[in-house]
Amino acid sequence: MEDKPGLAIAIDGPMGSGKSTVAREVARRLGSMYIDTGAMYRAVTVAAIRRGVSADDPAALTALARAITLSFDPPSNGGTRVLIDGEDVTSELRSVRVNQIVAKVARAPGVREVLGALQRSLGSRGTVVMEGRDIGSVILPHAGVKVFLTASMDVRAQRRQMELAASGTPLPLEAVRRIIEEDDRMATTREVAPLRIAPGAVVIDSTALTVGQVVDQIVALAERARGL
Ligand code: C5P
Repeated sequence: MEDKPGLAIAIDGPMGSGKSTVAREVARRLGSMYIDTGAMYRAVTVAAIRRGVSADDPAALTALARAITLSFDPPSNGGTRVLIDGEDVTSELRSVRVNQIVAKVARAPGVREVLGALQRSLGSRGTVVMEGRDIGSVILPHAGVKVFLTASMDVRAQRRQMELAASGTPLPLEAVRRIIEEDDRMATTREVAPLRIAPGAVVIDSTALTVGQVVDQIVALAERARGL
């Protein structure tokens, strides 16, 4: 697919909805940049842990988010590495400690403001697939394609359990379900950018669909948006 003019594809959804896998594959199919915004909140969390900044101190978290420089290498495709001030922190993004506190970090309005500005800037560079919780609603409200991906709680818990096991944290399904419920609660009740279906978003329930089927649907939406 030709890379003109730039098309923004926003993919939002709750934990375990399959966003990351799907977004990465859509970007691969379209030959476009892939941006994982959850990884940005995780990177600020890594920095907070390292510097002893409390996840309960929104002002200090905001100052920290302003002080560090986040970069991505390469700034496209699947296996993006995340760097804080030039140092690769990718292997720390999914640690148990980060998983425990990242939702709190993501509630800090100032952190959302700083990362939102970075996301908007990345979103204006040609064709991008940006994945997160508030991309279609807040960050790129004029995205040419907006998708809200969802799935049943059982399927989300199973997917998340597999992801956690793959990153070295095997947990019983019931524990994973509690983590998901807590993340949903934190994401939907926060004052800034609560998780919700953006106006104009296409809701795709992936419960009974394969990754390939979801990707096909989104690529078709992108092709239609391009054809207009
Ligand atoms: O998607 P992932 O699990 O990597 O997201 C990490 C954390 O950041 C989650 O708590 C999620 O709710 C939050 N997040 C967010 N806004 C985004 C992306 C992720 O609040 N755009």
